Amino acid sequence: MKPTTLVEFVRDTYQTDKFIPLHAPTFSGNEKAYVNETIASTFVSSVGKFVDEFEQKIEAYTGSAKAVATMNGTAALHAALYMAGVERGDLVITQALTFVATCNALYHMGAEPIFVDVSPVSLGLCPKAVDTYLGEYAELTEQGCVHKKTRQRIRAVVPMHTFGHPVELDELVAVCLKWQLVLVEDAAESLGSFYKGKHTGTLGDYSAISFNGNKVITTGGGGMVLCRTKEQGARTKHVTTTAKVPHPFEFYHDEPGFNYRMPNLNAALGCAQMEVLEAYLVKKRVLAEQYAVLFAGSEYSFVREPEYAQSNYWLNAIICPNKSSRDQLLEQTNAAGVMTRPIWQLMHRLPMFQNALRGDLTHSEFIEAHLVNIPSTPVEIVKK
Ligand SMILES: *Cc1c(COP(=O)(O)O)cnc(C)c1O
Repeated sequence: MKPTTLVEFVRDTYQTDKFIPLHAPTFSGNEKAYVNETIASTFVSSVGKFVDEFEQKIEAYTGSAKAVATMNGTAALHAALYMAGVERGDLVITQALTFVATCNALYHMGAEPIFVDVSPVSLGLCPKAVDTYLGEYAELTEQGCVHKKTRQRIRAVVPMHTFGHPVELDELVAVCLKWQLVLVEDAAESLGSFYKGKHTGTLGDYSAISFNGNKVITTGGGGMVLCRTKEQGARTKHVTTTAKVPHPFEFYHDEPGFNYRMPNLNAALGCAQMEVLEAYLVKKRVLAEQYAVLFAGSEYSFVREPEYAQSNYWLNAIICPNKSSRDQLLEQTNAAGVMTRPIWQLMHRLPMFQNALRGDLTHSEFIEAHLVNIPSTPVEIVKK
């Protein structure tokens, strides 16, 4: 199959001769009405009804005990790691195949990543690889799980649901129990993705969702921490809102807090976007199905959701037969105004994480060299 066939298919699908992005936001519902309402009310900032409403909508949709809105997904992840008890000097297991925000959040907790391989099926953290790494390099002590060589505490495991495809969560939960580790899900990309009927981000102790402009739905910038219990949720809300102890007029803060609040203006956008989420997800599945048909029998392999899961198909992806065909596809499609992108360079190639501990990364390296993301915005009029 020639790269021009993909270009033609995408142009035909989106019915435009203009530049086609990977994932553009679409506002077809009550976005303007709700945003105008916040402006009219003057409650555009950290107080307002839309923040509570948005949190409740996310709780109802995901089945999370408590959702706490934040200013972006990285802030949500930072707060989640803080709540998970990650401390300066701790080690945190995550994947090298992720967006840099996952590692930035744990870096700013003073922790260091250990990079473990991903599963070729989910593209996310592989439970077997985590268990194998721990079996070789870790031991359980009075202090919990400790790295045998560095003697640092290993505190948490942070899987990321790559492009919306859920990782094997039951198996990861079991590995975390076995090794006394806290599970924090980076669910930034997976709103609308379910693992065996449960929403991603609800099996870990904490998780983070992003509402950045390129995600499934957007609040402009925004994030959400999902918490497993109401108590954890109450404390997460407390620390993300400067840890102020409620009082009619006194300012008293009982721990070093974050100001990670989501402004009401952004939450208004989020409430409107939640109303169209289901429709977007249906459209995204239709598009993924069409891509699957297009690539069937070609040298490109379309990335499907794992059989145990329902993915939101946030970003569609294909695996190219080799690196040179990948580069050729990237060059020809981008030159034709159809945006395609390689996956992120692996985290241990970045200067700040090059000395991080790591296990075998065979699958991560393969995916890094072969994967290309293709346009994934939900289509209004899907032809054929
Ligand atoms: C988008 C994203 C984030 C962070 O989200 P922001 O809202 O942009 O801060 C974190 N992790 C992953 C994997 C992401 O894709």
